[in-house]
Amino acid sequence: MSQKITGIAASEGIAIAPVYLLVDPVLTYEKVTIDNVQEELARLNTAVDQAKGEIKKIRHHAQQQLGEDEAQVFDAHLLVLEDPEYLTQIQQVVEEEQVNAELALDQVTATYIQMFEAMEDNPYMQERAADLKDVSQRLLAALLGVELPNPSTIDHEVIVVAHDLTPSDTAQLNKKHVKAFVTEVGGRTSHSAIMARSLEIPAIVGATGILDHVQQGQKLIVDAIKGEAIVDSDAEELKTYQEEQISYQDQRRQLQALIDVKSATKDGKEIEIAANIGTPKDLAGVKANGADGVGLYRTEFLYMDAKNLPSEDEQYAAYRQALCEMHPKGVVVRTMDIGGDKSLPYLDLPKEMNPFLGYRAIRISLDRQEMFKTQLRALLRASVHGNLKIMFPMIATVEEFRKAKEIFQQAQRELQAEGIEVSQTIELGIMIEIPAAAVLADQFAQEVDFFSIGTNDLIQYTMAADRMNEQVAYLYQPYHPAILRLVHHVIQASHQAGKWTGMCGEMAADPIAIPLLLGLGLDEFSMSASSILPTRKLVSEWTTAQAQELAQKAITECATAEEVVKLVRDFEAS
Ligand code: PEP
Ligand code: MG
Repeated sequence: MSQKITGIAASEGIAIAPVYLLVDPVLTYEKVTIDNVQEELARLNTAVDQAKGEIKKIRHHAQQQLGEDEAQVFDAHLLVLEDPEYLTQIQQVVEEEQVNAELALDQVTATYIQMFEAMEDNPYMQERAADLKDVSQRLLAALLGVELPNPSTIDHEVIVVAHDLTPSDTAQLNKKHVKAFVTEVGGRTSHSAIMARSLEIPAIVGATGILDHVQQGQKLIVDAIKGEAIVDSDAEELKTYQEEQISYQDQRRQLQALIDVKSATKDGKEIEIAANIGTPKDLAGVKANGADGVGLYRTEFLYMDAKNLPSEDEQYAAYRQALCEMHPKGVVVRTMDIGGDKSLPYLDLPKEMNPFLGYRAIRISLDRQEMFKTQLRALLRASVHGNLKIMFPMIATVEEFRKAKEIFQQAQRELQAEGIEVSQTIELGIMIEIPAAAVLADQFAQEVDFFSIGTNDLIQYTMAADRMNEQVAYLYQPYHPAILRLVHHVIQASHQAGKWTGMCGEMAADPIAIPLLLGLGLDEFSMSASSILPTRKLVSEWTTAQAQELAQKAITECATAEEVVKLVRDFEAS
């Protein structure tokens, strides 16, 4: 009998492949008194050689898939295993205390890590501590004969199953081999889910208990349209899913006809359907899906992919590439939004009880202004290469926007004084993610050039339901009338001031929400590249008048999200 494990469909598609478990292995051992020291030392040497071999292999894969910069981290790992002082100390403990190499390794490593971590203000030493932890785990696994999983070395078709995937784990997945992933935790708007959509890898998140049901290498069916993972399927089920997979792929092929078609309603009202990107690497998918522009460039991935803060020149190169590739279409770049589920080890941010309510995004940028200014200078320098708009994330107060704008203008003046040409027509906008900003949209509209509604956060803050927590996922309701009213208010406020409003949260690509948003007057919809064509098709099936009538009813007559969904369904059926 087959078993279905349900979760949240985070990135659409159907996949069938063997399981690749990405779980931390158990690395436990007992203290052993050894008689033959030479034998133990030889065992240690073999493990060191094995670990080195593995690191070289990973380095090679990382270099091929992610580039030389990303691969260099593994050089630091190799250096640890070539450090004679570290290895000699482990050997000495084995010799003097006559204990097993595992114990000696742990003792010596702990002393080093303590020493490095004590140098709190020294990010270099913090990094060395992280390297040492990583390498010593690998060496310990080699001593114990346990294999460590490594997503970057996957070289055959698999479905990755894990408790959770960090955004950097996700970045390492190679789309060619990883046909889908399933995690036990996470929500539709966790950043791994968002990245899966950019990479166009089918994904299910929040599949509680999946790890208890699957084994390494076992065949798994992932239906990431319904949000179901199926184990132990019989031949008939397998055939059904294979057929569904083919029909899904056919549908996707048919949508290709819309690539160069204008985004407009049935009665010809044009809107913009733009793409969300995390890195310039995503631009290929954006162009292949015929986006009208980039509505959200999440620049924090540039920071997260590096070992140190990216320099002005490194950032300039990335922004310029995005602007040039999209020219003459617009690119809305969001200044970095670190914090929440996106950490940056080298910034040494404090551990917080409520990271989504804490030190995040513009709050960090206004606090660490040098870092912010570097980003703005890079953006300003790139601005002459295309159609740039800049927006600030997590704005709660008008003062925050004014401060950010002032630093932007300072950077602009500085560059001009240095004789560097910059565009004078860059629009400056804000993300509407915090309910206070949504409520005060009329005031903000006097000062900003545009709004982009970040519903991933706006919903979590309005409903007080953590976007990462599947236990409260039922409260994460994009169609809740309160959310629709907030969205309506923001759009109206911007239009009254002659400004425009976009939406770059996941709600913008939701087929139930799209007609409602059209009716509320949203000007720009920004989403993962894979959602662009289905959205263009859906928009073309509605007239403005129909959408307006629907939206009006939803915000005036509905009390619950369920009523809103029913309203949309009934309307579509009529
Ligand atoms: C949002 O909050 O809707 C948004 C687009 O930003 P992020 O998902 O990066 O927080
Ligand atoms: Mg957000």
